[in-house]
Amino acid sequence: MIIALSGGVGGAKLALGLSRVLPPEELLVVVNTGDDFEHLGLSISPDIDTVAYTLAGLANREVGWGRHDETWSFMETIEGLGGETWFRLGDRDLALHVERTRRLRRGESLSAVTEDLCRRMGILQRIVPMSDDPVRTRLLTEEGWIDFQDYFVRRRCEPVVKELRFHGAETAQPHPTFMAALADPALQGVVICPSNPFISVEPILAIPGVRDALVACKAPVIAVSPIIAGRAVKGPTAKMMTELGLDPSAGTVAHRYADLLDGYVIDNADMAEVVSIDARVTLAQTLMTTMEDRETLARTVLDAAAVLRRRK
Ligand code: GDP
Repeated sequence: MIIALSGGVGGAKLALGLSRVLPPEELLVVVNTGDDFEHLGLSISPDIDTVAYTLAGLANREVGWGRHDETWSFMETIEGLGGETWFRLGDRDLALHVERTRRLRRGESLSAVTEDLCRRMGILQRIVPMSDDPVRTRLLTEEGWIDFQDYFVRRRCEPVVKELRFHGAETAQPHPTFMAALADPALQGVVICPSNPFISVEPILAIPGVRDALVACKAPVIAVSPIIAGRAVKGPTAKMMTELGLDPSAGTVAHRYADLLDGYVIDNADMAEVVSIDARVTLAQTLMTTMEDRETLARTVLDAAAVLRRRK
């Protein structure tokens, strides 16, 4: 079994690659829920939905969120009524949030709802939230503390970030399926997908017990750099690093996971960084444009895990 830790877009790309080269029962995707929020009375889990839509073949690859087969009657109508439109919700996407919200209000856990909705979307792999307890990422900017979606969507990542906090993380329980998988002797590797370290991976690592379990885990832990040649493929990863006083590089990301990492996959373009990284480095093409790129990178990561298993 392989565990993949994922945020939204970057993580989902590699999770899709892994899903195409592994038997479905051998992949467990653990997803960040620090981006979750309540909007228009609905419970929205953007990273879970990006991963689910991606594995179900429903994702809109151009924009990186939502579904490809979308219509917009709800948005157009609510705009005409003077409602809130800063967070775009397509008609079909809306159905998912309405149904999730209904079930959560009935007392079902986020993971139970996710499991059933994923099955109904035809997904064979297991996707679990990092926790069933609410964790909310907030950012200290020059304008004070703001909620994640206010920063990410409403303000388009423009405010300068000084600090991040994951509210609720300190009392959240990691998902039991995740913790059981980490302790399972059949575990073959943990893949930290190329997701934003600050807002996608570190919320997962902030839940008590997760970091220690990753350090203690017998299987190799391998990350893929979300930074290629000093730049993020998409989103604010590099901008945040600069604002937080860090050098935007693949090495900086490795440093943040230093206590956990056995292996690290960086882009061929970052060969010069190998010497600064305290893990077994694999050079590869890490930009995933085509489906073949996703599968090839997934195989590279699995091969690196196999080598590290023999060493461990
Ligand atoms: P979000 O939750 O939607 O922001 O998505 P993630 O945190 O999962 O992914 C954002 C990160 O993915 C950014 O740092 C991007 O640089 C990275 N990313 C996106 N596409 C790729 C890719 O094809 N290759 C690599 N190596 N990183 C990518």
